[in-house]
Amino acid sequence: MAKRDYYEVLGADRGASADELKKAYRKKAKELHPDRNSDNPNAESQFKEANEAYEVLKDADKKAAYDRYGHAAFEGGMGGGQRQGGNGDFSSAFSDVFEDLFGDFMGGGAQRGGRQRASRGSDLRYNLRISLEDAFLGLQKAITVPTSVSCNSCDGSGAEGGAEPQTCPTCSGMGKVRAQQGFFTVERTCPTCSGVGQIIKNPCRTCGGSGREEKERSLSVNIPAGVETGTRIRLSGEGEAGLRGGPSGDLYIFIEVAEHELFQRDGIDLFCRVPVSMATAAIGGDVEVPTIDGGRSRVKVPAGSQSGRQMRLRAKGMPALRGGGTGDMFIELAVETPVNLTSKQKELLREFEKLSEENNPLLTSFFSKVKSFWADMKN
Ligand SMILES: [Zn+2]
Ligand SMILES: [Zn+2]
Repeated sequence: MAKRDYYEVLGADRGASADELKKAYRKKAKELHPDRNSDNPNAESQFKEANEAYEVLKDADKKAAYDRYGHAAFEGGMGGGQRQGGNGDFSSAFSDVFEDLFGDFMGGGAQRGGRQRASRGSDLRYNLRISLEDAFLGLQKAITVPTSVSCNSCDGSGAEGGAEPQTCPTCSGMGKVRAQQGFFTVERTCPTCSGVGQIIKNPCRTCGGSGREEKERSLSVNIPAGVETGTRIRLSGEGEAGLRGGPSGDLYIFIEVAEHELFQRDGIDLFCRVPVSMATAAIGGDVEVPTIDGGRSRVKVPAGSQSGRQMRLRAKGMPALRGGGTGDMFIELAVETPVNLTSKQKELLREFEKLSEENNPLLTSFFSKVKSFWADMKN
């Protein structure tokens, strides 16, 4: 079956803003809410479709890829987001999306989706600090993530010996109980099964019935060249294991690129403040500057350069994250006034000053302005 266009699925225009997409999605999600669609057998698959479409279009990077390549952008596990056919199963989509929309219906939103048998594992966040050099080159990084994995002894079921859990007698598997409170019937999460709808007679001794075990996992993460602070890398299914056989969450690597002592970064461009001596700035010369690839470039300092003068070294900046060229490096000259002069040096500079009446155009024009300012004030 051919996949429908994501915009069509959401009923949104191609040019829709993030806000408009969100609105369109919420509208669809409400329409397709399972409580309102018990007689529509297609609601669940349509809901999944809408959820998948929005998952892509709400993410600026994925949206850009989709706008360019269509569904082909996500086939075959491209880049960091190895998504395979939508975001997990229906129940996970349900709990994520309806928590804010329908949280109140479910009793304050404290418990996610009372009717779930299995629940999706949490997403995990891992903060990774890397150097600017690593961000320039990209790197393969081994990380250790404390997480919970599916329990080996019970195969994730939570029941000793892998026995099937039983339907909760209190709520008959609904995960919710009703109570009369004045005029209202209030639905609450079932206290016996905590909303799971099932109970385990003999909990697994290894995991205590949760179906999960705490483990440290080692993962090798591919950090592409060009990442910057705030870049997120998603490792699908590498988050916490789901409860009772539910799907795993995702692992998000949050990148932080450390400050560099020589280079400042602005997007794909780099800046480097290079001090030059007063004499070099005045008579001109060469300075050698470092480049982020570990090399060096000779830069010509024109005679009469002032502090703040900028020069550009083309393509010596950072690589763009998804291809698309390389930034530039900007050199900014900082003319250094010499300090700790000897009496000989002072002597020479005084001598120099006497000969320098015509050499400071800024100074000359400043003082002529000051003079006329004072003159005007007197009149
Ligand atoms: Zn129950
Ligand atoms: Zn177990």
